[in-house]
Amino acid sequence: MVYRLRNNFRLSIISLLGACAVVGITPFAVYRFCQGALLAGLVDTSILAGICLTVVYAWRTGDTQRSGFVLALVACAGAVAVATLMGETGLFWLFPALITSFFLTSASVAVGINLLGLAVLMLHGAAFVSLEQMWSFATTAVVVSCCAYVFALRNDNQRQRLEQLASLDPLTGVKNRRAMDQELKAAVSARARNGVSSALVLMDLDHFKRINDEFGHSAGDDVLVEFVGLLQANTRCSDQLFRYGGEEFVLLLPGVDGEGLPAVMDNLQRCLRRSLKSPGGPVTVSYGIALLQAHDDASRWLDRADEALYQAKADGRDRMVCAPATAQALMAD
Ligand code: GH3
Ligand code: MG
Ligand code: MG
Repeated sequence: MVYRLRNNFRLSIISLLGACAVVGITPFAVYRFCQGALLAGLVDTSILAGICLTVVYAWRTGDTQRSGFVLALVACAGAVAVATLMGETGLFWLFPALITSFFLTSASVAVGINLLGLAVLMLHGAAFVSLEQMWSFATTAVVVSCCAYVFALRNDNQRQRLEQLASLDPLTGVKNRRAMDQELKAAVSARARNGVSSALVLMDLDHFKRINDEFGHSAGDDVLVEFVGLLQANTRCSDQLFRYGGEEFVLLLPGVDGEGLPAVMDNLQRCLRRSLKSPGGPVTVSYGIALLQAHDDASRWLDRADEALYQAKADGRDRMVCAPATAQALMAD
């Protein structure tokens, strides 16, 4: 639970809002019932129930996008209802609702919800004592929304940039191991859910250290960049390449089964043999290949490809070795 709160910003905001709503709105609801203001009390209770149900939905399903949107709508509609019923006293509740919209949903949707709430409030008009007060309130509400919008957009850009920095390898531009873990898990889930088969190819450049030693580190870097370029040019858009570490790369081939795998890999090996070169001559590659099996999780799948790669190295390098279950599948086809 603490892990989810720490790692899922929107879920933590939804939960915080739920807690604030229970603590902040419950006394008002009780007070209004005690005062005999039945309608206002019912509005408070409905807002409370709506928020609590949405929080429970977010926790159970993990769908923070939909629940965030619903919560922003509930909060804004609630603030509008309270302002309409209570007049000036309830008007101030719109400001926290305007701000929380930006935490709960995307910036443009939040602006839409806020403007809609404000428009309803103004068209109804009962919340305001004079036209002057209404326009003054509307202006401040729009200014608050605009500032929050700019801030939210900036925040979103920075988050995207950070995500990119955290998931891409700076030398070759392909995704790194962190991003790979997520994609392997997604492929395992896709197989369990829809039976989509996938293959994983672990590749290691042979005697790469010699290139560094003989021609310098930057020549080694050039070979890595060239290797990635060749792989990208000779694989499908849906295939995914990751830098596993050093001169080791992982190629994830979704939708490839024992039947299609040999042709794909033969073609790739031929291209690399023909084109991958260092200043000292051709560079060879060893491959460990594993087809995703029913009993595999991401780490076991990777381990099987790793064992096959180890075998390819032990057998003399510049070759492909399939993990045992994969080899059986290929023989069966
Ligand atoms: P093997 O055929 O057994 O795989 O031998 P190898 O020389 O390729 O493997 P080894 O693990 O001995 O050496 C890998 C080398 O890759 C050592 C390391 O300095 C180098 N390396 C790792 N990352 C980079 C990088 O980003 N750029 C360059 N130029 N070299 C790198
Ligand atoms: Mg190597
Ligand atoms: Mg290596």
